[in-house]
Amino acid sequence: MGAEAVLATVATEVRACTRCPLHLGRTQAVPGEGNPLSDVLLVGEGPGAREDATGRPFVGPAGQLLDELLRSIGWARPDVFIANVVKCRPPGNRDPEPEEIATCAPYLDRQEAALDPAVIVTLGRHSLRRYLPEARISAVHGQLRRSGGRYIFPMYHPAAALHQSSLRETLFADIRGLPAALLAAREAIEAERVASLPPPFPEPMPIASAAEVDEAEQMTLF
Ligand code: URA
Repeated sequence: MGAEAVLATVATEVRACTRCPLHLGRTQAVPGEGNPLSDVLLVGEGPGAREDATGRPFVGPAGQLLDELLRSIGWARPDVFIANVVKCRPPGNRDPEPEEIATCAPYLDRQEAALDPAVIVTLGRHSLRRYLPEARISAVHGQLRRSGGRYIFPMYHPAAALHQSSLRETLFADIRGLPAALLAAREAIEAERVASLPPPFPEPMPIASAAEVDEAEQMTLF
């Protein structure tokens, strides 16, 4: 199955999911959306009120800031894929519980495997914790990191900048580094791929010296 088909299957399953109590309070589940061929996966926390109402990720105030951030580097939503660590809205926009995140994780695992992105942009703490459980966002934001075979580019959650205006500048400064981080990740992935290829010949080919050739030719005379 290609990426598009896997992502569509996951979306169908998410919309019907009853694996954790979050499904009881949802209007719509929010599987995620975007370009199935993208090299960039953005991972947020979970749907808010607007996302719950529409079934689409990042369409509320935080989503408007995310659109602005993408636009600031010449990108747009169709250039990336956007998903969340939990697919149903936690009541009152509370933080998702570790158990809810764990129950929902297989969906994101499958989305990630299908996209096989060069870079995963984590938006906020919960998303960062999935990839870099020990990292502090204040220490790693805006830096390309390697974890579990993936390249991670941690960023603050756009909603944080709506409450704390100093973070707005940080978000814009960090995202400016994303295109270069993507190039660096692609190059590193290609270098790893080439390094893992078997050599063209399993053993160096023995090359006979001129003396050996002469000797072999003379031996055939007798
Ligand atoms: N915040 C998130 O983390 N995800 C969304 O989809 C919307 C807001």
